[in-house]
Amino acid sequence: TAVPATNFIRHIVEADLAAGKYASRRWSGKPGPGPQQQAGAPDPARIRTRFPPEPNGYLHFGHAKSILLNFDLARDFGGICHLRFDDTNPEKEEQEYVDAIIGAVQWLGGNYGEHLYHASDYFDFMVEAAECLIKQGHAYVDSQSAEDMRSQRGSFSKPGQDSPFRQRSAEENLGLFRRMKAGEFVDGAHVLRAKIDMASPNINLRDPAIYRIRHAEHHRATGWCIYPMYTFAHPIEDALENITHSICTLEFEDQRPFYDWLLERLAEGGLLAKPLPQQIEFARLNLTYVVLSKRKLIQLVEEKHVDGWDDPRLPTLVGARRRGFTPEGFQLFAERIGVSKSDSWIDMSVFEECQREVLNETAPRRIAVLDPLKLIIDNYPADQEELCAAPNHPQKPELGKRPVPFSRELWIEREDFVEAPSKGYFRLFPGNLVRLRYGFVVKCTGCDKDGNGNISAVHAELQPDSKSGTPGADSYKVKGNIHWLSARHSLACEVRLYDRLFAVPNPGAGERDFLLDLNPHAKTVITAQLEPSLKNAKPEERFQFERHGYFVADLIDSKSGTPVFNRAVTLKDSWSK
Ligand code: ATP
Ligand code: MG
Ligand code: MG
Repeated sequence: TAVPATNFIRHIVEADLAAGKYASRRWSGKPGPGPQQQAGAPDPARIRTRFPPEPNGYLHFGHAKSILLNFDLARDFGGICHLRFDDTNPEKEEQEYVDAIIGAVQWLGGNYGEHLYHASDYFDFMVEAAECLIKQGHAYVDSQSAEDMRSQRGSFSKPGQDSPFRQRSAEENLGLFRRMKAGEFVDGAHVLRAKIDMASPNINLRDPAIYRIRHAEHHRATGWCIYPMYTFAHPIEDALENITHSICTLEFEDQRPFYDWLLERLAEGGLLAKPLPQQIEFARLNLTYVVLSKRKLIQLVEEKHVDGWDDPRLPTLVGARRRGFTPEGFQLFAERIGVSKSDSWIDMSVFEECQREVLNETAPRRIAVLDPLKLIIDNYPADQEELCAAPNHPQKPELGKRPVPFSRELWIEREDFVEAPSKGYFRLFPGNLVRLRYGFVVKCTGCDKDGNGNISAVHAELQPDSKSGTPGADSYKVKGNIHWLSARHSLACEVRLYDRLFAVPNPGAGERDFLLDLNPHAKTVITAQLEPSLKNAKPEERFQFERHGYFVADLIDSKSGTPVFNRAVTLKDSWSK
């Protein structure tokens, strides 16, 4: 395995480790989230990172970038990466999403061991942190309407105005906050705000809300009616878990001053120990021909433009898995696109090429005829059959060969015969010699047509001594080489040909409705002929169907005896100009 390319985040980690920043790190004044993490005890991990999804949807390709970044960093620097559910928002979160996220992280190889945490487990500590701020004069209860508070925030060019409640005493604030927690008030009656600077050029420092009243049922923390705001909760979650490098996307850059302000205040208040976690921002993944916005993905699923969250057309990780993409392909992709601090777009062809490269290495070869047309070998007896030997992987002879039956009536691809060839067409046309791959050389003699003039069968004659692997085979020099299956032995199976979800690189660009850009040809269901050895393919077994692409036995619908295949990706990029 290659040494991963370095990037600016790795440089930060290397410098921090070289400076011994975490050498004598201990757990904070509070026990960590894990059972063995005693307050004050040394932390054996060299660094800690985390992947912190909110369980309000399914993970997509963008999350994969973040997952691999965090887990790879921990792995490469002797650290630990946590999987943490950032479940501080009761309304949008569900157990279904928690389960799907765990499955996707594990599928990608994210090895969090026992370090699976929930932010909702820290609610008691967060209340303590809020009270700590109140007691130090760093937070106050504001009893204005949301509208009034918004109107006082100011703008980039205009400073904000102080709330009339800003000078409440610590005792009054503490009393009100405890009554908020006890459920004495309705939603929105009060909020707890950090007391920083209403004139700060950074609007995020103009007394941001940190706790609000929400009489809502949380999917796992029952009995709460106040919930922390994300910007307050996230730094605390990081600190409690002794995260060293808290990596997030660029839009949080303006939040970093608040992140640092909050943790410094809690350290001063004795609730946290130094070194404190540091937030580092990187550019999110933007990928052409898909949408990675949760809102748009939800719309595609709910309005049934796709067949559910795991539809192989969707850029979700459950979809990718059903599509036949590999975790190794994601890893290669993550390494190839790297990590940077400036936003850019990655072309879908880069992703597909990474998947192709991995599948080319690992997928055994098989034969499938997707658009079958009969080829009749007129000089081969109807009651005869024999076996040909096809290599399982041309670059890996150690994977051996498998028998493929040959008989008088074969299936070939419809496009492998034409009556009147154009220049450069070397496949079947009357009078031409072609090799049936791993079998015989045949000479085309003509075709049959049905009442509408459509070609219903092609005829050919087998050339003596031409069988592949026999001494005479090399004396035939033919340019055309096509695949085939014995009609009597092949299996008729459902095959789904998937392609890009959208027909244009930037769906919904400008004001356009992104649904108008859906690719109507992103899913085509056909009945194909497959070689008999595929009969008992196991769900998720991946193959290259020669000359066609990479296919996977569907995780859900494929059954032993009646396999169903999905096309992950074609052999060549047909989209780039
Ligand atoms: P939203 O905030 O709209 O609910 P989200 O995609 O940001 O959606 P989170 O659950 O907050 O969802 O994301 C978990 C982690 O994945 C975050 O650390 C976030 O920075 C990262 N992430 C999300 N989208 C991308 C992306 N396109 N590229 C890289 N990382 C991403
Ligand atoms: Mg989120
Ligand atoms: Mg987010």
